[in-house]
Amino acid sequence: MKSLRERDAEVIWHPFTQSGMGVTPLSVVAAEGSNLILEDGRKIIDGISSWWCNTHGHGHPELVKAAAKQFATLDHVMFAGFTHEPAVALAEALLKVLPQGFAKVFFSDNGSTACEVALKLAVQFWSNQGLSKRRRIIALDGGYHGDTFGAMAVGARGPFSAPFDSMLFEVERVSIDGGEAALAHMRSLCESEEIAAFIFEPLVQGAGGMRMYDAALLDSYMAIAREYGVLSIADEVMTGFGRTGALFASESLLLSPDIICLSKGLTAGSLPLAVTVCTQEIFERFISSDHSRTFFHGHTYTANPIACAVALVALNLTVAPECEAARKRIEHLHREAAEELSRIGYVENARVCGTILAFDLNRGDVPGYMSNIARQALQFFIERGLLIRPLGNVVYCMPPYCITEGELAMVYQAMKDFQLS
Ligand SMILES: *Cc1c(COP(=O)(O)O)cnc(C)c1O
Repeated sequence: MKSLRERDAEVIWHPFTQSGMGVTPLSVVAAEGSNLILEDGRKIIDGISSWWCNTHGHGHPELVKAAAKQFATLDHVMFAGFTHEPAVALAEALLKVLPQGFAKVFFSDNGSTACEVALKLAVQFWSNQGLSKRRRIIALDGGYHGDTFGAMAVGARGPFSAPFDSMLFEVERVSIDGGEAALAHMRSLCESEEIAAFIFEPLVQGAGGMRMYDAALLDSYMAIAREYGVLSIADEVMTGFGRTGALFASESLLLSPDIICLSKGLTAGSLPLAVTVCTQEIFERFISSDHSRTFFHGHTYTANPIACAVALVALNLTVAPECEAARKRIEHLHREAAEELSRIGYVENARVCGTILAFDLNRGDVPGYMSNIARQALQFFIERGLLIRPLGNVVYCMPPYCITEGELAMVYQAMKDFQLS
């Protein structure tokens, strides 16, 4: 009989994985709390929340119950011309906890589509007012917004986007390092009256290498954008739902964004769901008896009732005081670990933002994602019973909030022990 791996190799194409590189996937048979359970019985601590989405641990009983109940009641219905309690209740609950000024929730099913929707909304916001020249986008340099074409266009260009670069629309970039010149550049772009929106990941750029930056820079950029009517789009697909400590990273900004994108932690990392939330002002520019002003966008699984029902329960868990305390505890332990890690020779720029701990492996000769360090490290951590999957030379931990102190200690110890061969 063939093993699962052999059958997989015959029929499956994995994301971000090149065949012929000798990478074989691990077979997972179950998951529980912060642990993944492999086919051979090994337990692996999910130190990166299965790509940054799992907030309350795997198989949380309340989420399981909500999914089962909703599945038995109403599994799915198209969302054009229909509505249902889980979607409405979730939208109401989100609007209560989001920074002020948001009014309407548009559903989709992943982070990339949440950003696509945001970009299309922003461009059509202007064209519905007869200002179709206002369609350029400013992006914070080095960002990541997903792998679909529009999301790729506003993200950082590099080896991942290279085959498509000539097909991606042009985007203006503003520096993440700030400074007078950067602000002047932002102003001159906004003055052109050709800019529809400014998109950014608040506080932490995830895929860009867990790059953490000061909210004050974003405040300055957003203030300039606001002065010229340019819409601000906060991509909180990764930072939302407590990842940076506060419920949303945007809470640390002086101005509220006009559009916010959420996914990953929305269902606590259990089901695909996303929302793009906007202000009443944006929504009103789409109200018309003229069909051409309609926002013609939708996905088959828009506002899937099961995912919405789970998301509502997940949100209640996230806003609970115990969860806030758990996030504070993780941040505290991360800070202690970062200090210890800083003393190790090959560790550079150890940093913490909320529940995210990251550092760079200082090896000047092999920078970037294509380096072998990531694979060596991944292998090392797996052998130690940990899922820690570096981004190039950036090693990080972003655990489910239910992770125990003992489990975190194992992560930190392995990070210290990891030696470059
Ligand atoms: C992961 C991510 C996305 C893309 O989400 P997918 O669900 O993978 O399409 C977009 N923006 C940010 C900031 C992300 O971290």
